[in-house]
Amino acid sequence: MNENTRSHIESFLRYAEDLRLGPYYRDREGSPSAASAMKVPAAAETAASSAIPATSSSAFERRMSSAAPLAAAAQERRVPIIQVSTGASLFEEHIENDSLERIREYIGDCTRCKLHKARTNIVFGVGNPKADLVFIGEGPGHDEDVQGEPFVGRAGKLLTQMIEAMGLRRQDVYICNVVKCRPPENRLPERDEITTCSPFLVRQLAVIQPKVICCLGACAAQTLLETNQGISRFRGEWFDYRGAKLIATYHPAYLLRNPNAKGEVWKDLQKVMSVLGLKPKQRR
Ligand code: URA
Repeated sequence: MNENTRSHIESFLRYAEDLRLGPYYRDREGSPSAASAMKVPAAAETAASSAIPATSSSAFERRMSSAAPLAAAAQERRVPIIQVSTGASLFEEHIENDSLERIREYIGDCTRCKLHKARTNIVFGVGNPKADLVFIGEGPGHDEDVQGEPFVGRAGKLLTQMIEAMGLRRQDVYICNVVKCRPPENRLPERDEITTCSPFLVRQLAVIQPKVICCLGACAAQTLLETNQGISRFRGEWFDYRGAKLIATYHPAYLLRNPNAKGEVWKDLQKVMSVLGLKPKQRR
């Protein structure tokens, strides 16, 4: 295959990844598609999967593939075996001069998914647009829907306390959610809603370029890491997410119901503090 063709196919596969169609193009067996033409030979699968590049699998698969026997992991989780050269995703490559304002403007008075029907406000995100640390929740609750700001209800107050315990103020970090409209009755966001809304989150992250992303709860972690694994299996572990360090911890709403888990969350936050060189707030 000549370089030009290869480069076109790689670009296309990155595009498919960004649209979350990667598995469809990567894993089609017996297809004469470009993707199957790029499969590495079986004997090389193990080696290839240990160096899965940023755009060819989820951060979760890459992180976990170094911990598990690779061939078995590849079979069990269909670890992609296509070699695509590392490079920025299309989000970074193609949206020049992107900004939080432009993303918000692009979202507009959104009706892209069914969540728009019952929402009061779109809850875009708040905080420092150049934050080193971004917290990502699931979706707005009642108070957030009314005020148009994430994490302002009971769980939000606990998050604010957590941020302050880290020696930061709310305005030092950026806070947002996977979906920007409140799911009715605070139910979990559904797959189609996440698929529709999460590209905006990805763009927000690409603009902010935080050093650390802290996912609050399973929804945020599973969305960014593209996994269905339960959060307790990987909470407190570091992942690479498009050049940022990503860690998942329990959601503050979970802590309100299970205060005994606060110690685990504090350990995770201490890991974040250590990466960012933060000192805990002094108690008076
Ligand atoms: N829970 C979330 O996940 N996000 C919010 O903004 C509020 C509560």
